[in-house]
Amino acid sequence: ADDVALDPWGSSSVSDYRKLFEEFGIEEFDEVLEEVPNPHYLMRRGVIFGHRDYRPVARALQNDEPAAVLSGFMPTGDPHIGHKLVFDEIIWHQQQGADAYALIADLEANSARGMSWDEIDEHARNYLLSLLALGFDPEAGELYRQSAHREVQDLAFDLGAEANFSELQAIYGFDGETDVSHMQSVVTQMADILYPQLEEPKPTVIPVGPDQDPHVRLARDLAERMRFFKVSEAYASFELEPVERDLVAEFYERLDPAEFDDDTLRCVHVAEALEEAPLSELGVAADILRSVLTKLNEAGMEPIRPRTRFSDRRATEKAFDALIDAIEGEKRVYENHVDAFEIDRDEAEELARQVEVDTGGYGFRPPSSIYHRFMTGLTGGKMSSSIPASHISLLDDPEDGYNKVKSATTGGRETAEEQRQKGGKADECPVYELYAYLLSGDDDEFAKRVYDECVGGERLCGDCKEQAAQLMREFLEDHQEKRDEVEELLEAAEIELES
Ligand code: SF4
Repeated sequence: ADDVALDPWGSSSVSDYRKLFEEFGIEEFDEVLEEVPNPHYLMRRGVIFGHRDYRPVARALQNDEPAAVLSGFMPTGDPHIGHKLVFDEIIWHQQQGADAYALIADLEANSARGMSWDEIDEHARNYLLSLLALGFDPEAGELYRQSAHREVQDLAFDLGAEANFSELQAIYGFDGETDVSHMQSVVTQMADILYPQLEEPKPTVIPVGPDQDPHVRLARDLAERMRFFKVSEAYASFELEPVERDLVAEFYERLDPAEFDDDTLRCVHVAEALEEAPLSELGVAADILRSVLTKLNEAGMEPIRPRTRFSDRRATEKAFDALIDAIEGEKRVYENHVDAFEIDRDEAEELARQVEVDTGGYGFRPPSSIYHRFMTGLTGGKMSSSIPASHISLLDDPEDGYNKVKSATTGGRETAEEQRQKGGKADECPVYELYAYLLSGDDDEFAKRVYDECVGGERLCGDCKEQAAQLMREFLEDHQEKRDEVEELLEAAEIELES
């Protein structure tokens, strides 16, 4: 099917990934691959095929700077090998130094999928056990459940004030019949996505399937809106009337350092400069501040703090410090003065972020995302939680796992002879996918050998499936053993699993 409608709650499969690039502006992952330190095999093999704005995350990992990864799981069934892709992505980012968050989207499961709370409890536990068994470190990272997380709920409420019904209607097709809880689960999900940045803005990646892209786009929009809102709020709290920017500039031209004796006057200038500067021109404020600093320096004085109406004085001081740091770190030689001032949008935004976060507002960066391919079902078609034969659950008896692989559809030819002549169609083979997505682990050589032998006609499906089935059995045995081992870890993580 050519269906590229992106519906996070639908069952449509996204068959034509190229359209995602063209119509939805998702970028090809290959283009950032080089910038990723120790890329995961899912990245190297093109299973992770697309991204939005992943570069800042890659750079942060590269430079040991703060970054975060977050993904959520809707506990509507047992976790299966398709979910393992997302587990792997979260864990890999955690191992590269990102703050890692995994959440149970229980509100969404209840409101969008109608799951009962008992079912949700049981599935949630299973998801978390598999995540821990695969290597998630709960002490370094955070596991939580949407409904039990007060801060997420508060943030959801704030975000809800920035979104309206028409918008959700346009994005998700909500109509007059859509229940309010479903809408609430959407804003909660927005809060989840932005939650890693609550303390401090940082590049954050959300690994998802492409069907979840509408959520990512809305979250990116809301992040921008919260930012603008908070900036203007921060300006408004300075205790001053706005003045013409060129008046401020002119004023500075004539300024005598002696005037800086008056603390209030100094504050006024700083605040005026900030008040005057729209977001896109925060650099202007930076420039003015810089000239204040120069003059202060000339006068042998320390800069002082602006007086504001902020209830949190410390936050104000931090904001001022952040601006000073930003200015002092600025290497660019500005031409002339305010009017001739030009600043790169990125730089201006960076300054804006520093001001916001330190003034206690939301300084969200638009979150980034990466997209992985869906696994093909073992019986052909889409791998689906509701069709047991189409997937292998991480809880499947290892023997059942073995048998499911043995009875899987392949990309093989009608006869062994034809296969030897023409080679198999590895690109269309669910069994090959098992090798590439899971069974080869980190061993690229092995995955490549299977592929080459298949398309070269040296590999026949019977043996190939036998090998895959055995590997699957081993994987499940091993995984389930680890699940038992991490039971305690789960308890220690003190996650509220009861609703
Ligand atoms: Fe698939 Fe293996 Fe057959 Fe190739 S040989 S088509 S990879 S099962």
